[in-house]
Amino acid sequence: MFVTKPRLFLEYIFQNRFIVPSFNVSNLEMARAVIEAAELENAPVMVQTDFINFNYAGMDELSAIIRSLAEKSAAPVLMHQDHPGKDDNIFRTLRRGYYSVMYDGGHLPLTENIAGTARFAEAAHAAGAILETEIGQFGGEYQGGHAITAAAHDTAEMVQKGGADTLAVSVGSMHGQKSRLDLDLLSQIAESTRIPLVMHGGSGIHPDDIKVAASLNVYKVNIGAALIRGFVEGLEEGAALPPDHEPRHQQILRHVTAKLRDIARHRLSLFGASGHGRKLLEQLVVAKDDMTERVQRT
Ligand SMILES: [Zn+2]
Repeated sequence: MFVTKPRLFLEYIFQNRFIVPSFNVSNLEMARAVIEAAELENAPVMVQTDFINFNYAGMDELSAIIRSLAEKSAAPVLMHQDHPGKDDNIFRTLRRGYYSVMYDGGHLPLTENIAGTARFAEAAHAAGAILETEIGQFGGEYQGGHAITAAAHDTAEMVQKGGADTLAVSVGSMHGQKSRLDLDLLSQIAESTRIPLVMHGGSGIHPDDIKVAASLNVYKVNIGAALIRGFVEGLEEGAALPPDHEPRHQQILRHVTAKLRDIARHRLSLFGASGHGRKLLEQLVVAKDDMTERVQRT
């Protein structure tokens, strides 16, 4: 199912206290692998594209691939726009049917970040979508240099004034690198925000920390680097296979897809998402409309 009721999707995950992986994809093989993994795990999944993915594959092309695979799938698939690169891309993805988008203002002073968040929360909500905003910087690949840790009082102010549905907080994870989370800080942020939280740099977060994060309001963890590594390794392994009946390039890419499917299944299972797909699907089918209120713990 291509999910068009993002708040219901969010509410189910938040109330059941598990995490949905959001996988970055830039081609057909990656998108197919993660959606097939969700079907095999009976899990919901998020499939996301950032400006780097768009630069490679094109926004129209990539969103059409994800959407057509999601529409045919038995798993609930929420398509998400990750780091937009420039703000205008948020409007462009909303026009292309993204029901979850990210505003990327973590590098700005807090007041500017809040103002930008409020602007794009309004635009997203008018389109029936949810908005993720970011506090602090995850650093590592894409954002360059060191992470800037989120401060708990900033996150509380952002939630009050920004109106975003979810908040990405930098508490130790880094794009493309191994990490341990600052769980005390995450606990303070969970207490002061009470809305669903997001981690970037999820490929390298220690598995023990993932389990605790799910109990501290984290509902979504981004997975990019693990699939990139898997794709490249899969190509090398595939090229070393003895030829079979299939055209050589397809044989190699089929091997890559199978490898990525296994990587995605492992994350879905580790995050506690396995087994929730059909239950969530039924709720999405039955509901006439999406929830109007922001998902928040009382
Ligand atoms: Zn990120």
